Amino acid sequence: MRLPLYIIVGLAFSLLVGCSRSADVSATAMEFPKVILIIGDGMDDQQITIARNYLVGSSGQLTMDTMQFRGVMQVQAVSEANPAEPVYVTSSAAAATAMASGIVTSSRRISTFAQTDKDAVTIMELANNAATGTGIVTTASVTDATPASFMAHVNARWCQGPENMARDNERNPRMSYQCTNDYKTRGGRGSIAEQIAETKMDIVLGGGRMYFDQIAEGESETTVLQLARSNGYEVITRRSELQTLPRDKQILGLFVPDLMPPMLRGNGATMTPAVEQFDGNLNVPEAFSCEDNPEFVDVPRLLEMAEAAISHLERRGSFMLVIENESTDEQSHLRQPCGHIGAVAQIEETLRFVLEYAESHPELLVIVTADHGHAAQIISETNVFARQGNSSPGHMARLITVDGSIMGINYGTSRPNFPEGHSGVQVPLLASGPGVEKWPIFMPQTEIFHIARQHLGLKDSLPSDQ
Ligand SMILES: [Zn+2]
Repeated sequence: MRLPLYIIVGLAFSLLVGCSRSADVSATAMEFPKVILIIGDGMDDQQITIARNYLVGSSGQLTMDTMQFRGVMQVQAVSEANPAEPVYVTSSAAAATAMASGIVTSSRRISTFAQTDKDAVTIMELANNAATGTGIVTTASVTDATPASFMAHVNARWCQGPENMARDNERNPRMSYQCTNDYKTRGGRGSIAEQIAETKMDIVLGGGRMYFDQIAEGESETTVLQLARSNGYEVITRRSELQTLPRDKQILGLFVPDLMPPMLRGNGATMTPAVEQFDGNLNVPEAFSCEDNPEFVDVPRLLEMAEAAISHLERRGSFMLVIENESTDEQSHLRQPCGHIGAVAQIEETLRFVLEYAESHPELLVIVTADHGHAAQIISETNVFARQGNSSPGHMARLITVDGSIMGINYGTSRPNFPEGHSGVQVPLLASGPGVEKWPIFMPQTEIFHIARQHLGLKDSLPSDQ
């Protein structure tokens, strides 16, 4: 299937630019296919619309709105107790596993099958085996659920470092998701950080240094970071080092202890008290605008990390790069609309660069999607029945957009002392590049694995599984 797509692209391009250059481009396209998968964690259509309204106005258009293909991704997860039973709200772990490995699994699992705990081969393993370039860029810890599902196999997502495995197993003694079997001494692969230290990824950039500073399992002094170095990784911790990456080394960039701070900040959403009798005053929170987050200094932007990763991966010719912004999810859990708007803004500036790069690389397939839906929802800023004293029973924020109007954002999945939860809605699938004009507009999340594998011309199993 791959060959005809490239021939079509090559032919189309030759008609546009003439024969001499088209022959080169077509040959490059045939030889060096590339995939960049951009994931906004929890970036459903509500989040995209919130960011669009705030950043460019209700009549405006985001860069992601201009992509060649727009479809819908079906989100699936199953019960751990009975994998034949569907679960309607998924997690980042199960959703990333679907995209990374092409399987439907249970919540909190990292590229392992529900119940059997069997490992599912990932697109990155297939790519590494074929000497295709591999990269991960994230604003989360590199050990967090989304990036982890592309690089590791673990029973439970919280087993990020060797010390977390012991601590979190003790904390959750009755959970069926334990990482006990993932200890190396029990025949497992170890924690997520230890597994990353042993992978053959070309470049991994993000947060999560605290997990790599832990003592590796079975060692008295050696940290996971030292393991990574002894396995060939050049470790960087400063933003400036992104400019001078050694081309011939594997790169592990860990810029913050855990998650990176969001780019924008503002008021959190608040609960409004119930009103017994309307007194003429609308019962809604104060309207506000977002501002730059002062904590977002010396932290590399998503764009900078993506630029460095693409430049580093070019030595391979063909590559699979995953770029994730986590703040869309984290900030919606925390009811911080400016936090998730800033995350979409970071995805936008990164996507603009990626699409510019694609103009001179017609062999590049660009996919933008989310892993699951989230709590944030646009509602009437005064509430439909405000004049009768009604208000949202959830947490509400009122944001002054670029239009100068007020947008109401509501979070209503949890009680005040708890973070908000995900929603089970289908998520957007946007793409541009070779072959997207033939994609069905509705597909399950597991198709991402198959699309990427076919585009990169990778086998469907590792030699050890054959
Ligand atoms: Zn989440």
